[in-house]
Amino acid sequence: MEHPAEQYPILDTFHRPLRNLRVSVTDRCNLRCLYCMPEEEYIWLPRGDLLTFEEIQRLVGIFTEVGVEKVRLTGGEPLLRRDLPILVQMLAHTPRLRDLAMTTNGVLLAEQAKALYAAGLHRVTVSLDTLRPERFKALTRRDSHGKVLAGINAVRQAGFQGLKIDTVVMRGTNEDELADLIEYGKDIGAEVRFIEYMDVGGATHWSMDKVISRAEILETLEQRYGRIAPIIEMSSAPAERFALPDGTVFGIIASTTTPFCQTCDRSRLTADGMWYLCLYAQRGIDLRTPLRDGASNEALKSLIVSGWTERSDRGAEERKEASFRGVFIQLEGRRQDPHLEMHTRGG
Ligand code: SAM
Repeated sequence: MEHPAEQYPILDTFHRPLRNLRVSVTDRCNLRCLYCMPEEEYIWLPRGDLLTFEEIQRLVGIFTEVGVEKVRLTGGEPLLRRDLPILVQMLAHTPRLRDLAMTTNGVLLAEQAKALYAAGLHRVTVSLDTLRPERFKALTRRDSHGKVLAGINAVRQAGFQGLKIDTVVMRGTNEDELADLIEYGKDIGAEVRFIEYMDVGGATHWSMDKVISRAEILETLEQRYGRIAPIIEMSSAPAERFALPDGTVFGIIASTTTPFCQTCDRSRLTADGMWYLCLYAQRGIDLRTPLRDGASNEALKSLIVSGWTERSDRGAEERKEASFRGVFIQLEGRRQDPHLEMHTRGG
């Protein structure tokens, strides 16, 4: 079926366009954050199922033809995928792609930042939940805090602009570091974004009382810095942005208490080619099988167009409306289908 260019971006049943694609390049991770990968053992995706760089390039090309203009590489830990700069180079010049970014835990960044910049990666977001090495070790169960800080420095030295630091804030874990992280962000020229703890994937120890809400984050920072001004902008970005009295800008991603499903234009491709239209979706659309069975670009495009136009997901809002809110997917369910894990879906 032909899709004339003027009908893109395609709209879903709530008139939301498809503009953002998160591409997970591996389900493996070199940290074991307690809020994401608390178990001792995991069922990994079979290696032969992982999309090759050529397959990822082809799918990204098709996605950009139907409206995607921003791609974010993620994982698992994306830097564990061998030769990632080659994939970056293959994607960087995709027509219509305005932004090619990556979310990483930073552990391997010091080794790879230069090559990624040279390959054409536009922006990097580093996930960092604490500035305290001992706390990092307790939370991630790995002793890599120094490597992450070195990785962040390497990003700056490599020449990247627009560095962001993403911090999941959890009661009893790191809620006392909000201002320290803001100060760190100021020192290194990065925008800090605080993420509400979500009941997704492997968050087996999630409970509402551990969530530090957007309101609480703002209150804590106002007590320290004085009046905080919201920045009004037309954007579908998940983070709401705010300015401190001295002009420092920070963000809050309040998916748990203030879901933004109404403007959600994101979808997720797992490393084995399953396409998920919502972070909370229990089922995805298999793009790998038709791809490997020889489907034409037009056939793959039709699959994507019909998937998106039928989309009615509003997962975070539904979670908020639930009468009882506890762990979303129990361990048994995630064992049966590892795609339900946050580290497979790409966060
Ligand atoms: N390994 C990369 C990283 O650390 O950024 C990319 C994958 S990770 C799954 C993506 C993001 O999801 C990270 O910022 C992580 O902190 C976040 N995340 C994982 N579990 C979460 C949860 N339960 N609530 C909120 N954010 C979570």
